[in-house]
Amino acid sequence: MESRIADNLACVKKRIRQAEQQYQRPPGTVQLIAVSKTRPAGEILAAAAAGQRHFGENYLQEALEKITALADRKLYWHFIGPIQSNKTRLIAAHFDWVHSVDRLKIARRLSEQRPAHLPPLNVCLQVNISNESSKSGLPLAGLADTAREVAELPNLRLRGLMAIPKRSSNPADQRIPFHQMHQALVSLAAAKISLDTLSMGMSADLEAAIAEGATMVRVGTDIFGPRN
Ligand SMILES: *Cc1c(COP(=O)(O)O)cnc(C)c1O
Repeated sequence: MESRIADNLACVKKRIRQAEQQYQRPPGTVQLIAVSKTRPAGEILAAAAAGQRHFGENYLQEALEKITALADRKLYWHFIGPIQSNKTRLIAAHFDWVHSVDRLKIARRLSEQRPAHLPPLNVCLQVNISNESSKSGLPLAGLADTAREVAELPNLRLRGLMAIPKRSSNPADQRIPFHQMHQALVSLAAAKISLDTLSMGMSADLEAAIAEGATMVRVGTDIFGPRN
């Protein structure tokens, strides 16, 4: 298991480096978040032993068990799943990043509940880039207004935007929503909201995301194997 995960990690990192090169992104500008949802702590340890430090989790209870079990390791935890408002206190206390902020109310609670001894919580606004009614995320319309309000919250640091576009197996089609995300970041910068993070791209489409400016890719399956 350890060597399989180490091999998979090396393979994903190689894909990232190759995409950086192919799309003229400076080397090392795309960070890998290993998505460890549903995987046991032992598999996270195997990835950590192979040098991986940043992990993404979707389900709070499961994540807290692993965060507690691995508390003596210097790991960084990213919450990437849907957020119910009764979960914000524990998320604010135990995570370094939250990628899935999709409404102002959640952002306000995370800021109020971020413990004073911790640095500001890094957050991304999740955008429903493919306009799917089944998916969470803010619409592009009105994004700047929400971003401006979130950026003012004292215990958060608004870092960027996150999206999970509709699946497509065609690389050219995959790039369309990622391009729209990049355009959204450019529009925000023009409105004097400068962000440094585009969290987009997963196992099946990380190259397309990197082509369009992803700075963080969130990869689960291609590191840990298929989930049940
Ligand atoms: C599960 C998940 C991923 C990882 O997806 P894979 O296809 O397994 O790489 C990335 N981002 C989010 C938000 C997820 O829920």
